[in-house]
Amino acid sequence: MHFAHLPAGYISSKLFVKKFEKRKVTAKTFIGWGMFGAIAPDLDFIYYIIDHGKHHHHQFFTHFPFFWLTLLFFSLFALLLDFKRGFITALAFIFTLNGLIHTLLDTIAGYVLILAPFADMNKPVTIAHYFPWDAGFIEFFVILWAIYLWKKDQLLGIFSKMGSSLNMIE
Ligand SMILES: [Zn+2]
Repeated sequence: MHFAHLPAGYISSKLFVKKFEKRKVTAKTFIGWGMFGAIAPDLDFIYYIIDHGKHHHHQFFTHFPFFWLTLLFFSLFALLLDFKRGFITALAFIFTLNGLIHTLLDTIAGYVLILAPFADMNKPVTIAHYFPWDAGFIEFFVILWAIYLWKKDQLLGIFSKMGSSLNMIE
């Protein structure tokens, strides 16, 4: 995945934002942290630069699905124990969830060490070969979905206007 990580982060944050309505966090902050989580695994590009490109950046721990799964597990645990309904646990949840989604999306477009650090580190996995479509189509679909969620109200307004003008023609 190249371009769809941020839009994917937007989609999942937007789908969850209503669940955290009662917490002391604005939708903007919640979605902002969600989108940051969606690109956080790619911060390993810094390591890639230091390493002079000797390893693919997916070999770094920020691209291990298990790393994010563990963080997500802890954030869910914190969320359940947070009786004061604070905002930090909500932000931690969406941040780690989107980090995990990032690593899973990367397996569609490229190779990821899906079982690292528990299994053979030299065997990256991809599901790209089993997908009926090119990864570019999936990115395109994710981007379209994000635009739809972002501009839903305006789009529905335009369509209803078109509908009412059609009624006038009839
Ligand atoms: Zn990545």
